[in-house]
Formats: sequence, structure tokens, C-alpha cells
Amino acid sequence: MPVNGLDAYDDGNIFAKILRKEIPVEVIYEDDYAFAFPDIAPQVPVHVLIIPKGRYVSFADFSAQASETEIAGFTRAVGKVARQLGVEESGYRVISNSGLNAGQEVPHYHVHLCAGAPLGRLLQ
Ligand code: ADP
Repeated sequence: MPVNGLDAYDDGNIFAKILRKEIPVEVIYEDDYAFAFPDIAPQVPVHVLIIPKGRYVSFADFSAQASETEIAGFTRAVGKVARQLGVEESGYRVISNSGLNAGQEVPHYHVHLCAGAPLGRLLQ
């Protein structure tokens, strides 16, 4: 069920479990501010999820509550992941669904990094 972007953080959500290493995933990138792993249901050849380490429900929550350091660190990490994946030159899309109308399903803020083929209107 889609979440409200302003809901209280639920430590039982699946991305919280991934951060606590209770659910094993392939680690694509990790630093103090961000953790990146493959989307379980990729919609394009390169479909990676990048999440902040902090307890933020949505973009609405993250943008309002995270410190400048966390926001800067997370944003830089997204760029680093794109560079590491080798998709900077060919291009990529960063998408974040925030709240009910956007269809956000997992209540831990995340961005989708999509690349590897012409993306058309995917997830727009
Ligand atoms: P939507 O599913 O509408 O895109 P979200 O923006 O909340 O909603 O995206 C959640 C994403 O998390 C989906 O792309 C889904 O495939 C992915 N996902 C769910 N569970 C896992 C998991 N265990 N490992 C990796 N990706 C997951």
C-alpha cells in the first residue's frame, strides 16, 4: 500500500532491514550517508536503488528533516554511483516517488537510478 510521505518512520520496513544487513543484497556502493543496491524488479538494464543511512520516510521527510551534511553527502553519493556504474556519459535518470499520489511503496526514502537504454517515458 502506498505510504503517506509524512508518515512516522517504521523500523520494520524492508530497506531498514537491508541497511541492518538482515536481508542480504549486492552492495553497489556504501559510505556514511548512502547505500546502493540493485532493484529486485529492474525495469531497465541498470536499475539501482540509493537510500540514505538516516531514518527518513520520503523525499518530503528527507528534504525537511535531514541535515545539510546528510543532504550533501547523499546527493554526492548518487553522482558517485552513476560514475561508478559508467553511465554518466550515456545518461541516466534519477527518480524519487514521494507519498501516496506518486505510488511510493517502501517507506524509507530512496531514489531509483535508471540507465543502460533509452528510457523514454519510464517512471516519468
Ligand atoms: P514503486 O514500486 O511504485 O516504484 P517505490 O518508489 O517505493 O514504489 O519503489 C520501491 C522499489 O523497491 C521498487 O522498484 C521495488 O522493485 C524495489 N524493492 C522492493 N523490495 C526490494 C528488495 N528486497 N530489494 C531490492 N529492491 C526492492
